[in-house]
Amino acid sequence: MVHSIYSNKDIFLRELISNASDALDKLRIASMVDKDLDVDASDLHIELVVDAQARTLTVRDNGIGMSRDEVVQLIGTIAKSGTAELLRKLRESNDGGAPQELIGQFGVGFYATFMVADKVVLLTRRAGESTGTRWESAGEGTYEIEQADDAPQGTTVTLHLKPADPEDHLYDYTAEWKIREIVKRYSDFISWPIRMTVERPGEPGEDGSPGEPTREVQTLNSMKALWARSRDEVDEAEYHEFYKHVSHDWTDPLEVIHMRAEGTFEYEALLFIPAHAPFDLFAREGKRGVQLYVKRVFIMDDCEALTPNYLRFIKGVVDAHDLSLNISREILQQDRQIQAVRRRLVRKVLSTLKEMREKQPERYRTFWAEFGKALKEGLVEDVDNRETLLDLISAASTHDAEQLTTLRGYVERMKDGQSDIYYLTGETRSAVENSPHLEAFRAKGYEVLLLTDPVDEVWVEQVGEFDGKPLRSIAKGQIDLETEDEKKAAETELQERQKEFEPLLTWLGERLAEDIKEARLSTRLTTSPACVVGDAQDLTPNLERIYRAMGHELPPSKRILELNPTHPLVGGLRKAHEQGGDEEALGRTAELLYGMALLAEGGELKDPARFARLLAEQLSAAV
Ligand code: ADP
Ligand code: MG
Repeated sequence: MVHSIYSNKDIFLRELISNASDALDKLRIASMVDKDLDVDASDLHIELVVDAQARTLTVRDNGIGMSRDEVVQLIGTIAKSGTAELLRKLRESNDGGAPQELIGQFGVGFYATFMVADKVVLLTRRAGESTGTRWESAGEGTYEIEQADDAPQGTTVTLHLKPADPEDHLYDYTAEWKIREIVKRYSDFISWPIRMTVERPGEPGEDGSPGEPTREVQTLNSMKALWARSRDEVDEAEYHEFYKHVSHDWTDPLEVIHMRAEGTFEYEALLFIPAHAPFDLFAREGKRGVQLYVKRVFIMDDCEALTPNYLRFIKGVVDAHDLSLNISREILQQDRQIQAVRRRLVRKVLSTLKEMREKQPERYRTFWAEFGKALKEGLVEDVDNRETLLDLISAASTHDAEQLTTLRGYVERMKDGQSDIYYLTGETRSAVENSPHLEAFRAKGYEVLLLTDPVDEVWVEQVGEFDGKPLRSIAKGQIDLETEDEKKAAETELQERQKEFEPLLTWLGERLAEDIKEARLSTRLTTSPACVVGDAQDLTPNLERIYRAMGHELPPSKRILELNPTHPLVGGLRKAHEQGGDEEALGRTAELLYGMALLAEGGELKDPARFARLLAEQLSAAV
């Protein structure tokens, strides 16, 4: 069997180094912000120590460290909190493939250590505190924690490695070459030195005898900021590892955007579009923003000023050369140059997406499925880029049951004489697809966009039109899909019908006055007996639901009941009413008719139990 020289388990070291690097960044910032903080920030670095006899590997940093509470919260919780299964899988895993996904899901990089170690000891002292904390766990769901008086500033993690597998020298994490390989591959760009003491063969003596080996400290990583190199000097794998470091994600990014601006305001940006939406994409307190550096020096995480809210999923680094190292978040928000950079970044991200849509439609579909909902917020938020954003929209439509369409595609398929872009909103695609509102559009072959994200309601209202064509809800107002001639014929017919139905419609309007504004005849139904529609200026029921879910108090709104005069139920009801049928029996049928119209569009009944009872009565009379 041929082994690659890398194993999935190797990434435990990447995780420890990534944590150490973050801790060094934090210490540097803390020592600048708080001049009285008693710390030594003069030689910040990461140190790796291998002890082949004891089979231990130690990763040490002199960074910010952790307080006892932090150790319990950040490191300890998982060992306790019932994720025992994760731990068991980690310990049992032979190549780390499946557990990697688990670790990714739980977002606990530190626990990757248990793929290679059967005991982990962490010794740490928080900057500014005098006593430290010692934590130890075998990764079996419990840990021990105690005070440690002799802890140096920063954090030391010691792995007691699992017994070596004589079959497999690749998993020997006490081998110098192995450590070198892993650091080079996963952590070369780390901006702090990663040092290791290595043995050099001694100079041979004059007689050719081997000299005494000497020990020297070497820095294993190049520390070259990836974003400062030109694109052709960086290979894909390096970008991907860097992405994993800045994003704490475990999967490769979907797209890499590397840009540089020279001139009045110099900066470099290395941005990533992730392949998966984070779990907190729609959480109000969710993390957002890229990292800000000034001339290679880390300034802050989650810099919101550099990306608009609707692009909050973009990860990466912006290195701005002319900013002060002491710049604060508040000042950043107002800084003119930062705003200019932000505009450039937004345009670049959007043009990258546009290109992806054209050249890699499959990849764009992935993007859209993960982030489309967030991107659509931009239609409301970012008026300057609205045109570009409209070109990026994908939407379900009656044109194709599987594929989404672009707005441009819709316009190209519009029928002769069609002036509006029709859409219908609702909670799910199947509810919308089966809504009676679609019947006439289906029958006449008009395409309708099926919009089911909450944000859709908002942007269609605000944007109003695309390519000069109004966006029009088919669940609102009067709809006419006829040509002039058809219209004339239909109108005369409708007028006659109207006369015929007038008494029934008036009676229905009164009978159902609590629920509807009026009853009228419909031009949008072919097979269903009835549907409910709003006035052009009304909120759609979907939007009403969304507002209510957000905690807004809305008065109960009434809509219009439209009847299909050609449906036997409606015709029968008219006859019965005309012949002076039993008022109560007719009333029950009216209520059922209205309830069915609500159900058909995926709406909710006010009193489902009553509806079921009426229906049962009606059915038993019929059997
Ligand atoms: P993540 O890095 O994605 O937050 P980890 O499991 O790797 O998840 O680490 C959990 C947390 O523990 C980190 O966010 C950090 O606050 C803390 N931590 C881990 N290692 C160190 C370290 N060497 N120094 C200081 N804090 C650390
Ligand atoms: Mg980490």
